[in-house]
Amino acid sequence: MKLDTKCVHAGYTPGNGEPRNIPIVQSTTFRYESGEAMGALFDLEAEGYFYTRLQNPTNDRVAAKICALEGGTAAMLTSSGQAANFYAIFNIASCGDHVIASFDIYGGTFNLFAVTMKRMGIDFTFVDPDCSAQELEAAFRPNTKAVFGESIANPALTVLDFEKFAAAAHGHGVPLIVDNTFPTPVNCRPFEHGADIVTHSTTKYMDGHANAVGGAIVDSGKFDWTKYPDKFPGLCTPDESYHGVTYTQRFGLGGAYITKATAQLMRDLGSIPSPQNAYYLNIGLETLSLRMARHCANALAVARYLKGHPKVAWVRHPGLEEDPYHALAEKYMPSGTCGVVSFGVKGGRAAAQTFMAGLELASIATHVADAKTCVLHPASTTHRQMSDAQLEAAGVKPDLIRLSVGIEDPEDLIADVERALGKV
Ligand SMILES: *Cc1c(COP(=O)(O)O)cnc(C)c1O
Repeated sequence: MKLDTKCVHAGYTPGNGEPRNIPIVQSTTFRYESGEAMGALFDLEAEGYFYTRLQNPTNDRVAAKICALEGGTAAMLTSSGQAANFYAIFNIASCGDHVIASFDIYGGTFNLFAVTMKRMGIDFTFVDPDCSAQELEAAFRPNTKAVFGESIANPALTVLDFEKFAAAAHGHGVPLIVDNTFPTPVNCRPFEHGADIVTHSTTKYMDGHANAVGGAIVDSGKFDWTKYPDKFPGLCTPDESYHGVTYTQRFGLGGAYITKATAQLMRDLGSIPSPQNAYYLNIGLETLSLRMARHCANALAVARYLKGHPKVAWVRHPGLEEDPYHALAEKYMPSGTCGVVSFGVKGGRAAAQTFMAGLELASIATHVADAKTCVLHPASTTHRQMSDAQLEAAGVKPDLIRLSVGIEDPEDLIADVERALGKV
């Protein structure tokens, strides 16, 4: 199946007389006829469902679709993108370990790494995504367990240099984990460029309609944990909390990582999405490729309009030929990037506020990547307590406006922006 067909069909093939849509299995538990039959499930000797905190058939079918879209070997859903990134790293790093991450990542992920996981004893080194191979090299320590980046960073719109990050990670015997939320597998498939694990906030384009918060983790099955048993004991030695199973032995390279994340982390931390939310996500996935094409075309049209406007100071979108990340975007996501554009209006913070107030169609929302165009001015909302100097130091320009371009008619969107700029 080609990607557009997978968006519609992958993950679920109904049998004769079965529901055409993925059924919502709204049940916490599953019945068994004997204690032995259920015991085999607990020992991971038989496949099946026993409790929705670990696994649910609706969730698994939707995960299987995302797995097919990314070209992986195994996948799982989580209740949020935050949970996906936490599990992806905590599955292979513990107290005393170290992880390298690009500095240009989503603010929530940065906080998760730099504050919360740091409190758990995992150390992070943040590197400039544009650093040289030597600088990246210098960030590694003997206890480094993974390298992390976003294929297109939210909100910096930096495109990841996959080749550079993958080469460094693999040179040190650790996997490259990539958050592929912004381009989605429609525009970028990180496994084809050296990534080993992919994560998603499905809350964004995958759901696409602002219906349900969710996340996903996909394994490429390509990273050979067994070559580094000392680095990854959790995957290569018996798990006493699971009857002595050795994940790489029992489930192979294709299944070990996700099985461990499900059997240990989901069991103990329980960030499982509701089957109802997985169902909504699947409806979004069916139209993902259609919507991504429209988001990208609209974003490019709006970005080009802004670029030519005398009241606009600067515009960033990796689809623009003159953007500093255009060459990397052409290399890793030639058919499109994402629908997010950032720009500045001449006149700084005050002008940005006037512009925002003048919009009628675009809504002011702390969200990105759904069907409806929305806009955020960090300096007057999420970062409003900061002075202009503090904002600059944090890499957020006082005039920065983040526009998440939806799938409306581009003429209406441009007219809205034109009207609002007229008031500045
Ligand atoms: C939103 C986002 C997250 C966090 O996802 P939630 O679903 O909000 O928990 C992680 N990474 C990226 C790139 C995001 O845009």
